[in-house]
Amino acid sequence: MGKWDVVVIGAGVGGLTAGALLAKEGYKTLVLEKDDRLGGRAMSLRGEELKEKGAGWYRRLLAGQYSYLVDSSPALEKMAEEGTLDGYVLDLGYHGVSVAGEGYFARLRELIGGYGSREVVINPFLTGSWINGDFYREPPLSESNDLDEKIKAELKRLNKRFLDFFGDLMSLTPEEASELDRVSLHDHLVKTGFAESPVLYDYFRCIGTLITTINNPHDISIGDILRYSSQVLAPAILRGGKVYVGGFTRDGVMAWSEAVAGRMRDFGGEIRLGARVKGIQLEGGRVKGVTVEGSDGEEDIPAGRVVFNIPVQELFEYVDEGAFPADFVSRVRSLYGYGSLSPYIGLSDLPVPEEHAKRLMKTPCVVPRSEGFDWDVYMAWNIQSYIEPGCSPAGKHLFTAYLPLTEAESHNRELVMKVVRAVPDFLEGLYPGFKDCIEWELYPVCVKLEGVAKSVSQAGSLKPDVKAPGVEGLYFAGDTVRGYGVAMDCACSSGILCASAITGVDYGIG
Ligand SMILES: Cc1cc2nc3c(=O)[nH]c(=O)nc-3n(C[C@H](O)[C@H](O)[C@H](O)COP(=O)(O)OP(=O)(O)OC[C@H]3O[C@@H](n4cnc5c(N)ncnc54)[C@H](O)[C@@H]3O)c2cc1C
Repeated sequence: MGKWDVVVIGAGVGGLTAGALLAKEGYKTLVLEKDDRLGGRAMSLRGEELKEKGAGWYRRLLAGQYSYLVDSSPALEKMAEEGTLDGYVLDLGYHGVSVAGEGYFARLRELIGGYGSREVVINPFLTGSWINGDFYREPPLSESNDLDEKIKAELKRLNKRFLDFFGDLMSLTPEEASELDRVSLHDHLVKTGFAESPVLYDYFRCIGTLITTINNPHDISIGDILRYSSQVLAPAILRGGKVYVGGFTRDGVMAWSEAVAGRMRDFGGEIRLGARVKGIQLEGGRVKGVTVEGSDGEEDIPAGRVVFNIPVQELFEYVDEGAFPADFVSRVRSLYGYGSLSPYIGLSDLPVPEEHAKRLMKTPCVVPRSEGFDWDVYMAWNIQSYIEPGCSPAGKHLFTAYLPLTEAESHNRELVMKVVRAVPDFLEGLYPGFKDCIEWELYPVCVKLEGVAKSVSQAGSLKPDVKAPGVEGLYFAGDTVRGYGVAMDCACSSGILCASAITGVDYGIG
């Protein structure tokens, strides 16, 4: 039927995962990517690129990944002109890698036999919480008995252990996890008795929001958290050594995509950048190929299988919805994501104590819900350059953070600006002198941080399957379809499930 067994549309984390595994199994695989680089929402840029290509280029790059710049200081045009970002490496928005890459990323690395000659360095960070004016130190995941004394005292008061939150993880079956997908974090905290302590409630809410990027504890699915804990965190801890909540990638998060893409090419796969797919062709309920536009004009590429890595909500722009069962169409149309504000702040000095600088810090409320939000807006922040010094010029520091917003909130500039204004004020209150160290600020907003929110109505097993119903040969990969865990890891796990559905190989996740 032509040169390719499989065409993958999109070189995001999900598409590259599926592409690398398919190529490894001997499928002739082509990945088509509309942008000039890999990684999709997990892409990176060099600060010099802003000077070389201009403010319009940066705005278009954001727009191509469901993002926009809501504010900056100085103006973006001035930053481009003056090379303000020279020497920095920025991701599209804040990108910590969960479990410092020892989750589904590690499973994929194992399945593709490592990255060949390429290196992916992920520097781990510790975590901490800032709740009602108190600092709570958190140990690595593998040392959960070394909790902050204040948390220990609160647990003792309730006669509970920290691990009671997770239950018997080692015996959690996939069926039980799927049932728990519909249970909220709030209900779980009430059931387990942790809700009796306001501090523990906020503490676990911070953990829940970190994993799901949802502010509202009534909407956060506990199934997704417990499945990830049992399938990814617990096994990583049992393997021995220190296990961290997350880490930052040297040379930007895109280094991971480049390594996986390199591996795919090692296996004979091909990737075309600057190739925008316009439509998927069908014949008699089967996939026939895709139509792509590139620098040489339009081209039809035949293939019997197509993997759609674009967020599934956009499917009907590529295939007529009449090809699918009606219940699938209405399900896909009802899916919603979660957005975020991702402040980037260049600092002339380090205005943060080392105890905080070495951690991802999180706090349950930077802007209260009474300001018009669905729930109190949480913030997670880092001095990224303290963890991964290569992301800022020598002697300077890079502050990065994310504040989850609902999809609707993230589209509302007025609401978002309330958050933008609150961030430096919050930081100045916590770290006096912070504002004096600010050299520049960039406030990108993403409306699909997580393509499908891990909420009680959509998490894990409740998402669309990786195999399309009604159309033979059409598959999905990415964070909007079946897949588990934190965003990039979720996209990776979905790519593994997608490859499994095509090759029939059981890769051991479910
Ligand atoms: C600001 C921000 C912060 C985030 N922070 C974190 C974090 O800290 N930790 C974490 O784990 N995750 C984070 N995420 C989420 C993570 O980036 C995503 O969950 C993950 O990258 C999604 O991967 P994907 O493969 O599902 O989709 P995508 O990355 O969306 O990939 C889809 C690909 O398809 C391409 N494409 C689209 N249309 C076409 C077309 N017509 N033809 C060809 N190609 C096309 C796109 O350019 C893209 O490359 C963040 C995301 C954002 C935006």
